[in-house]
Amino acid sequence: MRVRTLAVALLAGGLALTACGKEGGPGDTGTAPSQQVAADVKVDGSPTFDKIKARGRVIVGVKEDQPGLGYKDPTSGKFTGFDIEIAKLVAAKLGYGDDKIDYKAIPSAGREQALINGDVDYYVGTYTINNKRKEQVGFAGPYYTAGQDLLVKKDDNSITGPETLKGKKVCSVTGSTPIQKVKTDGLTEPENIVELQTYSLCVEQLEQGAVDAVTTDDAILKGYASQSPTTLKVVGKTFSTEPYGIGLPKEDKALRGKINDILDEAINGGAWEAAYKATLGVSGSDADKPVIERY
Ligand code: GLU
Repeated sequence: MRVRTLAVALLAGGLALTACGKEGGPGDTGTAPSQQVAADVKVDGSPTFDKIKARGRVIVGVKEDQPGLGYKDPTSGKFTGFDIEIAKLVAAKLGYGDDKIDYKAIPSAGREQALINGDVDYYVGTYTINNKRKEQVGFAGPYYTAGQDLLVKKDDNSITGPETLKGKKVCSVTGSTPIQKVKTDGLTEPENIVELQTYSLCVEQLEQGAVDAVTTDDAILKGYASQSPTTLKVVGKTFSTEPYGIGLPKEDKALRGKINDILDEAINGGAWEAAYKATLGVSGSDADKPVIERY
């Protein structure tokens, strides 16, 4: 009975996706069935949760230009994608339904400061967990693992991996791990690196022929490629490991523990899989179930 309900919901999501694609919302993906909103939630010793409770709403930092992950439909203003599903799932288990979430779009370079300032309660937006960032913010998760890849023009057969980028113009984003890798590994010459604020700006440059490749996580690039399947392609040879975490204020260990519990339950129950299937996995690709790493 429950399985059938889920199947019908996924089917409806699929149909909605087709309709959106026709109506000019190509970045939209489906939506997983809503989680039940928890009642009487307590997170003892969490200053962030106290703020959420006093406000009566959750403020989540996200991306708005990454189809399949965090995408804001320009017409409806609605946010969709796997990161959004994870953000909603966490909010529901903290006691806040979809109507009590405010999304704040924050680009890669602004994430740490937004969390330090308390501009957002938590951040879900292709945010790689690493030690350098842990000096400034906390992470729950990982809830997914991506890998750095390359987006190129469909007819470009000269770029086949990171070792073929010398002499090519490569675009990536300020404050991201991929731009860091391009620089430290010397994948192309400094004068051939184009650094912008968002990946969608890089994709525009690629489409105009101003750069030869865009580099970031495969999950992000696949979203752009599926929007322009006749002109763009993902090379498909990942060269890094990018475990995605939920960014949190560094000192809020109580909320970190609570969100790790929520993710663990979602991964081992069915909610994580439903979120994945409705969004990133809509084309049928599978993902390994993540294993939460507490610290
Ligand atoms: N996951 C990488 C990072 O956190 C690249 C994607 C992004 O910039 O959000 O830097």
